Amino acid sequence: MDCIFCKIAAGEIPSDILYRDDVVIAFRDINPVAPTHLLIIPVKHIPAVTDLSGEDTSIIGYMVNVANQLAKSEHVAADGYRLVINCGQYGGQLVPHLHMHLIGGRKLTNTIG
Ligand code: AMP
Repeated sequence: MDCIFCKIAAGEIPSDILYRDDVVIAFRDINPVAPTHLLIIPVKHIPAVTDLSGEDTSIIGYMVNVANQLAKSEHVAADGYRLVINCGQYGGQLVPHLHMHLIGGRKLTNTIG
């Protein structure tokens, strides 16, 4: 499958991986918008959040749990951070493999969209 995040999960493309288990992987965004900018992705190829159904839906809770732990280990939890999932063209999703952005380390703008 020609998916850049699947290739990162498979170790075929180098990335700065901070966390890995059988379900999710977390790595640093290659083009960070803040001092801390991580991506949490499922190992399983799910194109977008809109494709979640049935038991797959619980993966979002798991991704949030991993993100919260990483926010602590990256020392951004106390000041606060943002978790973002873009979906589809109008949602600004560029990589068609479900991913959650963890953004922190500076005061973010109050605008969304
Ligand atoms: P989105 O617009 O929500 O699809 O975000 C995709 C994100 O993936 C962007 O923030 C990119 O900077 C990031 N990205 C793309 N390729 C890579 C890569 N090889 N390693 C790390 N992050 C990447």
